Amino acid sequence: MSKPEDAVCAYIGLGSNLAEPVAQLRAGVSALARLEQTRVEACSSFYRTAPVGRLEQPDFINAVCRVRTGQAPATLLHNLLEIERRHGRVREGDKGGPRTLDLDLLLYGNQTIRTAELTVPHPRLHERAFVLYPLHEIEPDLVIPGRGALRELLASCAGQRVEKL
Ligand code: AMP
Repeated sequence: MSKPEDAVCAYIGLGSNLAEPVAQLRAGVSALARLEQTRVEACSSFYRTAPVGRLEQPDFINAVCRVRTGQAPATLLHNLLEIERRHGRVREGDKGGPRTLDLDLLLYGNQTIRTAELTVPHPRLHERAFVLYPLHEIEPDLVIPGRGALRELLASCAGQRVEKL
């Protein structure tokens, strides 16, 4: 990392429900740790979670990592998509279907970003227990820009099935 004071704290959500999901997530965390100018500072436990949207598919394994990165948001997103691609992610069919490895840029510092390629905070982060529970494990006092306290968001999606492994 060139200048530590330029590095930003970012949160990345990981998910998989195909081809040995736990191994997929481990490989995803290792790949994050190998990104340039990026250090993985914390990683949540892994969680088994109910699919949201399309229900007739296997449970997911999810986790959240906190990284400190010198990469700009667009560069970081590009690298996340590249890791997904290397791990055999095939983008076909409808959104919300099974996937080998899904990486989402959840938060980038306290920035709000809206470009054609990138929305931060992630647009569905605040309503997904499978993101909020692991995020809460590593950052209980977090406030989501534009959405409020993580603790309160968590209370509003308590009905979604999330089991810590
Ligand atoms: P999905 O993998 O189905 O979540 O969708 C990935 C696509 O969403 C990518 O092509 C990104 O350009 C776009 N996208 C927009 N905002 C984000 C974000 N915060 N994190 C990851 N992908 C994003």
